[in-house]
Amino acid sequence: MPSTILVVEDEPAIQELVAVNLTFAGHKALRAATVDQASTLIRAELPDLILLDWMLPGSSGIHFAKKLRNDERTKDIPIIMLTARSNESDKVEGLEAGADDYITKPFSPKELIARIKAVLRRRAPQLTDDVVELGGLRLDPATHRLSGAHTDGVMRALDIGPTEFRLLHFFMTHPERVYSRAQLLDQVWGDHVFLEERTVDVHIRRLRHSLTPTGHEYLVETVRGSGYRFSVAAQKLAAAPASAA
Ligand code: CA
Repeated sequence: MPSTILVVEDEPAIQELVAVNLTFAGHKALRAATVDQASTLIRAELPDLILLDWMLPGSSGIHFAKKLRNDERTKDIPIIMLTARSNESDKVEGLEAGADDYITKPFSPKELIARIKAVLRRRAPQLTDDVVELGGLRLDPATHRLSGAHTDGVMRALDIGPTEFRLLHFFMTHPERVYSRAQLLDQVWGDHVFLEERTVDVHIRRLRHSLTPTGHEYLVETVRGSGYRFSVAAQKLAAAPASAA
C-alpha cells in the first residue's frame, strides 16, 4: 500500500534524490526544506512517516522531533532521522528525542527504502504489503484478496469492499485492542476526513457481512460504550456453542 512520506531536508540535491527514490518505490513524497514548511504540510495532511534531517536552518531536526512527539495529533508518526553524524552520543540523542531510527549520510537509496519498510512494519504494519494471517483469515494487501478457512479447513475467497479491506487490515495488524469510532476514522479514513462516527458502524456491518460465508464475523467484536475490537479469543467463545450443537 503506498505511504505518504514527508521529507524534511534543506539540501536540494539530497531532498530531490530522496523524493525521487520514494516515488520510485511507490510512495507519495511530500517535501519541506524547513521546520516551518514541514509544519504547514503536516497541518494539511498527516504523513505516514517523516524523514527528518538533523541539521536544518533555524530549528534543528531534533527539536522538531521532540515537538512532534509532544503533540497528540503527531505523536505516533514514525520518524527516521537523516544525519551526517555517526557519533554514538548523537544517535542516542536522536532516539531519545523520539526518532524510531536514523540513517547516516551518505546512504544508498536501497538502504533508505529498506529502513522505511522496517520502521513501518514495526510501527504501522497496516501500511505494508505483508500478508496477514490470523484467526483463520488470510489477507493479502498486494493483491487485495481475502480468504477464510471454512469449517472443513479449505480456504475460500471472500468478497470485500475497499474500505472494509482497509478496516480489516488495520484490525488484523492491531488485534485484541479496543478502538473507538474516532480512532478508527483517524487510522483507516485519515485524520482530516470529516465523517460522522456512525459511518464506522456502517462499514463494520459490511465487514461482518463479508466475513459471514466462512463464519468469521465474530472476530469483529462490539465493545459496548467503547468501540470495536478484532479478537481471536472472541471467535473461539462464539464458535463453541455452534460446534457443540
Ligand atoms: Ca541539512
